Amino acid sequence: MQVNHAELVISAVRPNQYPEDSVPEIALAGRSNVGKSSFINRMIERIGLARTSSQPGKTQTLNFYNINNEFRFVDVPGYGYARVSKSERIKWGSMIEHYILNRENIRLLLLLMDIRHEPTELDIAMKEFADEAEIPYAIVLTKLDKIKKSQLNKHLSIYKKSLNLPTVDALFYFSSETGEGSEDIWDIIEDQLAE
Ligand code: GDP
Repeated sequence: MQVNHAELVISAVRPNQYPEDSVPEIALAGRSNVGKSSFINRMIERIGLARTSSQPGKTQTLNFYNINNEFRFVDVPGYGYARVSKSERIKWGSMIEHYILNRENIRLLLLLMDIRHEPTELDIAMKEFADEAEIPYAIVLTKLDKIKKSQLNKHLSIYKKSLNLPTVDALFYFSSETGEGSEDIWDIIEDQLAE
């Protein structure tokens, strides 16, 4: 997809701030620092639109980005960051759940996980939640450039096994540094938008 227009529509803290229309949404979830903002910036080839941070836990809002007046990327608050209080975590969790379970605009949920590490308990919980919610989802393994090419298959098998996937087909990999993987991810996004 050629992106020629991208803008932040709103950083919402409450559901009544979500845009009220039927524009399709591609939601991105994953723990803080996994690379959600970098993912959006690379996909739209516009450095700096989505705020990136090496300080995890900063994004506590649901950020809606209008892409080409065609669909929105929605950056869902990071979950599982240890340095926030338990009550904050519960609040974030319920915000994510509420959005994912009630938002009719969602066409695809991308679950971002760090390719270097085994999935965390929260990554696994998020995947199980997506299964139960019965919405189309794909897993995007981020920071591909940080592992050796020769180790890719090993990391894919670890994810397949830990997430209990029948095949590696639901696993996509991506690097916001090099852009590798973005074409395959655009393909699934376009397929879901065309549904
Ligand atoms: P978010 O909290 O999920 O939005 O994560 P960010 O996009 O802010 O990224 C967190 C940190 O990881 C930043 O320092 C990024 O530069 C870095 N990062 C994100 N994606 C990649 C990637 O694909 N490769 C490398 N090498 N670093 C990345």
